[in-house]
Amino acid sequence: MRILEPHSITVLTTDRCTAECRHCCMNSSPTRTHALTYEQIASALRQLFDNFNIKVVIFAGGEPTLLGDDLLKSIRFCKMNGVISRIVTNAYWATSPEAALAKCTELREAGLDEFNVSMDDYHEPYIAFERVKMAYDAAMQIDFSAVVIANCVGKDSTLTPEFLEQQFGMSCVEMQRRFDVDGFSKFFERSEGGKAIVLSNTFVQRLGRGIDLVGDEECNYDSDMSNVPPEAEAFGGCPWAVRSCAITPKNHLVACCGFELQGNPILDFGTLTGDNAVGLVERADNDLITNMIGLLGPPKLMQLLKELAPDEVHFPRPIYHSYCEVCHDLVGIEKNRRALYKHQGTFAPVILQARADLEQNFREVGGRIEPTPIRLSGVRVVAGPGAEV
Ligand code: SF4
Ligand code: SF4
Repeated sequence: MRILEPHSITVLTTDRCTAECRHCCMNSSPTRTHALTYEQIASALRQLFDNFNIKVVIFAGGEPTLLGDDLLKSIRFCKMNGVISRIVTNAYWATSPEAALAKCTELREAGLDEFNVSMDDYHEPYIAFERVKMAYDAAMQIDFSAVVIANCVGKDSTLTPEFLEQQFGMSCVEMQRRFDVDGFSKFFERSEGGKAIVLSNTFVQRLGRGIDLVGDEECNYDSDMSNVPPEAEAFGGCPWAVRSCAITPKNHLVACCGFELQGNPILDFGTLTGDNAVGLVERADNDLITNMIGLLGPPKLMQLLKELAPDEVHFPRPIYHSYCEVCHDLVGIEKNRRALYKHQGTFAPVILQARADLEQNFREVGGRIEPTPIRLSGVRVVAGPGAEV
């Protein structure tokens, strides 16, 4: 029985972006040019819809609206298949209230359900605040089921959740924060037939080019994954690995949208060609190291590898602020990959037991394993572009 199987898919439409934010975990920029076609997206989605219980498709990037008609056709494809769709955009296209409303109307008419726009100090040098405000105001006029502002803060940020609430909030509508003060993800109130209005308040992570361009001192939260937090000790697995898989701009199936995984020897499962999407998911589900990440989690693996083979691993950061930061070095640094390959057998019994437990305790009527009901955001699992809500 499959344990790691997708319930949401992030389509990383293109690596091109009109912006070049220094914290971008996907390394997107105006000079990059890879992009998926509608045919590639529809082919992959058709296979994944037919074989898995996919609840939502997130169109992210880069800037997904750069895909033009292929984006609209892909949104329509989700609608025709009864799957919720979401876009994560930087709103560069909102050059006037009219242009903003026209774009939001076009997206909604194609079938888009949820609208997510990013705004923070990292985006602001490239995308004027006014554009985001015009996009938000337009989205509020459209019957999207959710309108989300994704706000990522560093220690000295000025475009903070408080500031944005003041600017975007309306007296008659409650803007709900995604995370409470302790960092736990909240459940959103969505009135019958109404929309959820959410401020997705996350902290900056050092991923992608952010490793070089975001200072450690900017990361203004306390968690240090070197000391495995109690939540991670209790469960530990990354709930997004494979379960929230992604399709890259070069049409590869990868484990998640936590950072740019194209070409990673462990978490890139291969090129989507013909009808091999289910085969790639099965490859992921059968891969021992992927299971170790999905069921034990990167912080626990880092700790165990340091104990097991201290001379064979290299974790260079003084502090690891999130699961994805650990994961980045765990699967990204060759020395650590070699240690994972060499010692993976040690973890096989515990992984087999964990899979058996999950099968026993979380088997659904339809024979599927639903994601384990955990609230790991308190230990900062991920804040990638697809994981905004
Ligand atoms: S963070 Fe978003 S807007 Fe900024 S460069 Fe990356 S994809 Fe573009
Ligand atoms: S820890 Fe982050 S990068 Fe690693 S699999 Fe999970 S979501 Fe992806």
